[in-house]
Amino acid sequence: MIWNEARECMSRDELMTLQGERLVQLVKKVYHSVAYYRKKMQKEGLEPGDIRRIEDLSKLPFTTSEDLIQNGPFEFLAVPQSEIIRYHSSNATTGTELIIGCTRDDIEIWAECVARCIYMAGLGRNDTIQIAHNYGLFTGGLGAHYGAEKIGAAVVPSSTCSTDRLIKIMKEIHVTGIMCTPSYLLHIAKAIRNVREVGNLKLRAAICGMEIWPEKMRKEIEEMLGIRTHDVYGLSEFAGLGVACDCEYHKGLHVQEDFFAAEVLRKNSNILVKDGEKGELVFTTLQREGTPLLRYRTGDIAALTREQCGCGRTTARIDLFGGKTNDTIVIRGVSVFRLQLESMFAGINDVHARYLMRIYRTAGLDMVDVMVGLDETQELLLAQEKDFVKIKVTAAVRNLIGVTPNVLFANTEEIARMARGVSTVVDERSYR
Ligand SMILES: [Zn+2]
Repeated sequence: MIWNEARECMSRDELMTLQGERLVQLVKKVYHSVAYYRKKMQKEGLEPGDIRRIEDLSKLPFTTSEDLIQNGPFEFLAVPQSEIIRYHSSNATTGTELIIGCTRDDIEIWAECVARCIYMAGLGRNDTIQIAHNYGLFTGGLGAHYGAEKIGAAVVPSSTCSTDRLIKIMKEIHVTGIMCTPSYLLHIAKAIRNVREVGNLKLRAAICGMEIWPEKMRKEIEEMLGIRTHDVYGLSEFAGLGVACDCEYHKGLHVQEDFFAAEVLRKNSNILVKDGEKGELVFTTLQREGTPLLRYRTGDIAALTREQCGCGRTTARIDLFGGKTNDTIVIRGVSVFRLQLESMFAGINDVHARYLMRIYRTAGLDMVDVMVGLDETQELLLAQEKDFVKIKVTAAVRNLIGVTPNVLFANTEEIARMARGVSTVVDERSYR
């Protein structure tokens, strides 16, 4: 099933012509309305007239998440604020928010991208789709919702349901598709199996994203529920989920190339790699109005292929390898910078302590332990005082990443050994 054949199956030549036309318009727009890009282009002796086709993309300057954070949301707005109808943010913390503004057309394009992804998963207007992503600042829930409504499916906004209620509704109204993070789907699958409801469900397909999930986990979910699963990619910086998705052939995720021009750079360099080679994924938002981005360095490790897929789509596909080139960590779908975690711990100043966050997976779900290392004099803290520290640490972590950690006390030497002297965060998850 292909939602927009005219766009998803156009010849590569036609697609490149379209991308070129859109890039020319985009560069003119950002040059005249975003001082940040104008200054950057002027510094490199570039004028909008130098960009005439998609091949000229490599002449343009890069953008990083640090650029967005340091300059603030208004610096990157390419339209008057009156045209912004929504803001999204990639994080729930203060001080280092990464905020992007969306116009009405940006929201419409987002819905179009998600609609294409839903069709890739073989779901359509006759389906009933449960959305179990968060509907807030996080760019999962609302995008999934609008995309599912756009194709005419019946949407069940289940983000705040308990797992038990979600399963009950799934059974009662014959839900056929679900969109959520893969770790949550695994959790749902286990809960369904526990109550022996698998045979009573009509669920056929799941579209999971905002986390990297190993093939083993995908197979496990598919076997447990007897369904197909599809991987969807997105970034909050582009208004979220739907930038790319995998079709029934599962040979990489099709990029919505009429909206996003993809490049892959050799790690820690500005050199483009050949198709099939691994590197850092970079996207240019060809049609975004609110916060358009030139050559945004995603930090995601991926390889790109432009060979035609068996499904008939001609769009390039990305193979994601998990992990980041920059200092971002994704926990249960929420991106957070290591620096943010470190400043969060620095902000807990009631007790002089060394902190270590350990991230690992249990039954497919991301788990967080926080080790609190007290110095010798404080090892004698009263149980009551330890409880107070526990509450402070739990609240700080929950506020930043939305996950309740296990807080454990240890001596500082043990923590230093576990951290191997490198950082306050040890990520023990493996992706492949
Ligand atoms: Zn395909």
